[in-house]
Amino acid sequence: MTPNPYRGTTIVFATMHGKDALARSAFRTVLDATVITPAGIDTDQFGTFAGDIPRTLSPLDAARAKARLGVAATGVPTSLASEGSFTTELGWTTRQTEHLLFLDQDRGIEVTESHSTTFPVAPGRHITTTAQALSHATTIGFPEQGLIIHSRDGARIITHKNLRTRDDLTLAIDHLLSENLAVSVMPDYRAHRSPARAAVIATLCARMAQRLGTPCPGCRAPGYGRVKVIPGLPCGLCGTPTHIPTADLHACTTCDTTHTHPRTPTTADPQWCDTCNP
Ligand SMILES: [Zn+2]
Ligand SMILES: [Zn+2]
Repeated sequence: MTPNPYRGTTIVFATMHGKDALARSAFRTVLDATVITPAGIDTDQFGTFAGDIPRTLSPLDAARAKARLGVAATGVPTSLASEGSFTTELGWTTRQTEHLLFLDQDRGIEVTESHSTTFPVAPGRHITTTAQALSHATTIGFPEQGLIIHSRDGARIITHKNLRTRDDLTLAIDHLLSENLAVSVMPDYRAHRSPARAAVIATLCARMAQRLGTPCPGCRAPGYGRVKVIPGLPCGLCGTPTHIPTADLHACTTCDTTHTHPRTPTTADPQWCDTCNP
């Protein structure tokens, strides 16, 4: 049997927010691999959550750019990088979509693991008093969950990212309000300041380690696994295809081997059917 090429190797995590700590244990356990992070790597250049550096790339392209940066900064040909996006739905709930990308520059292999979930932290809101800011900080879960104060003075965006205490927060808010600026208090989505986001990244890291340890049944290349979810599970009452997944498509990173894995159960509840429950 071909040995896994990543066993016992060093893999870079291109991060400036401690994401390597979220990958280390799974990569050690599954692949006996060591995850490192280069000092001084600047992944913020591809955009920040606070908006002070705009995001111009798609989330996957941003993850790919970070992984390439990890390779360039270290000379290690294998790098992980993640990119999260947060969108507020109906002004009330927030959806987190997280991509974890693995790049093997020497073998030309790229593997992505993604997850989309409801983010269990209140979204940002506009505030007009310090009391409102402190109250919303509590709602967000500060200080365990970090927060960002966001303001704007004409064209200039003002952000405060690294507040640790309610006193820091009070001082910063008082100052901005005294200048009559519009102020918002929002969650800090950076991995080292957001336990909920860190948990999702850790789950993706565990999936990635397993995936990289899985050889293609055709050519033995590493990283065989799910590349696509196929919707269309038929309604249990009338058979109409629904948007519920019916199968997972697994594919090789290198050759043309694919396999479709049907999901169970094999029919959908009629509540998801556009015909039975329009
Ligand atoms: Zn139906
Ligand atoms: Zn293959």
